[in-house]
Amino acid sequence: MEILEANKIKQQDKKYNLHSWSAQGNLNPIVIEKAEGIYFWDSDGKKYFDMSSQLVNLNVGHGNKKIIQAIKQQAEKMAYMGPGYAVDVRSKLAAKVIDKAPGNMAKVFFTLSGAESNENAIKMAKMVTGRNKVFSRYRSYHGASYGAANLSGEPRRYTCEPGIPGFVKFFDPYIYREGIEFKSEEAASKYYVDKLREQIIYEGAESVAAIFIETITGSNGVIIPPKGYLQGLRKICDDYGIMLVCDEVMTGWGRTGEWFGCNNWNLEPDMITFAKGITCGYVPLGGVIVNEKIAKYFDDNVLYCGLTYNAHPLSCAAGCATLEVYDDENLIDNCKAMGKVLGKELEKLKGKHASVGDVRYIGLFSAVELVKDKATKEAIVPYGKDPDKIMGKIVGALKDKGFSTYSHENCIIVAPPLIIKEEELKEALVMLDEVLSYVDEELI
Ligand code: PLP
Repeated sequence: MEILEANKIKQQDKKYNLHSWSAQGNLNPIVIEKAEGIYFWDSDGKKYFDMSSQLVNLNVGHGNKKIIQAIKQQAEKMAYMGPGYAVDVRSKLAAKVIDKAPGNMAKVFFTLSGAESNENAIKMAKMVTGRNKVFSRYRSYHGASYGAANLSGEPRRYTCEPGIPGFVKFFDPYIYREGIEFKSEEAASKYYVDKLREQIIYEGAESVAAIFIETITGSNGVIIPPKGYLQGLRKICDDYGIMLVCDEVMTGWGRTGEWFGCNNWNLEPDMITFAKGITCGYVPLGGVIVNEKIAKYFDDNVLYCGLTYNAHPLSCAAGCATLEVYDDENLIDNCKAMGKVLGKELEKLKGKHASVGDVRYIGLFSAVELVKDKATKEAIVPYGKDPDKIMGKIVGALKDKGFSTYSHENCIIVAPPLIIKEEELKEALVMLDEVLSYVDEELI
């Protein structure tokens, strides 16, 4: 791209565009010219490995022709039709989603994003149970809209405080930093589940509508539930008539090597919220999948949920094509196979680098947690203390090498598109290795 053109794009961006989660003054966004597969290129022609699949949504990679074609065809045929009508792609995608979802799931309400999905799931849980309290975890992100931000536990919720009454938080099974030597994963699960049960009893179990969890905590550090934990949560919900809602916005659609994260533990939630990988960002789409009981409830009771763009035909067409791509290109299998390679390589990095305290991975979903001291586990940046300065430097150093990703608190997220090949993955991880050496030497 011509330098003048690139400069103009950047100038206009800085003058008129507000970027998420940032003070705007010092932003210097890279101008991106094109993207293909697991790569994208900036206006200077520099190539980047997309090692976070953008926002862990671009599972099929950039530029997939089948999805693009489906959007074009649908735009020409019928770009929009109100939510009250039945449309071929709308029916087809709903059936496909239920086919891929765990066996107890019956119907889907389509939205446009992860946040909207969670907003609607909160409302459904309240309508079905007639209760008002909603439990969710501290280390979680469920979206930026008001209800979803109140559901979220991490600092991005603070601007929505004082919070909505009835939103209660509990702690994730973050064993690495619990400070307790558990004898086994099962023992850890028992500890966390018992604590939650106690908390629910003290809140008044009969007032709790739902427990929301990210099946695997995502942006807050890929925290993988220990064995028995999810079953423990299921049991609490069954005992007290509480809805278990799995937020699978990041973990859904193949990211963990299964269609949904909950499949890894044969968990059957009451609702699943999703977005991201259903269309991989080609157009926006999200949704709430509900079990038979909830679906039946709304046979006779009004579903007080609505969106002008509910089940938008362009999104549904893209969703149908995307699910076909997962099947045609065996992306779930590839994710499982590449996940094994990723896990092995990350363990090597943990063994080699003083700054790597922990690595957590499942499928192509992983985090590298950085510490100042492996023995004390002192974090490289104290929690909530503007990690951007140090972590921003590290992510910047990765970008300079051509490894694009993002960080959250002390964790670097590694979650490449599910189409990645072994040699590409290993090539990218060499860059991570080099930057971690720099972190070992310069930053701790
Ligand atoms: N839930 C989870 C687990 C997420 O990771 C995200 C976004 O990253 C959301 C919800 C919000 O999704 P959206 O940005 O599409 O509203």
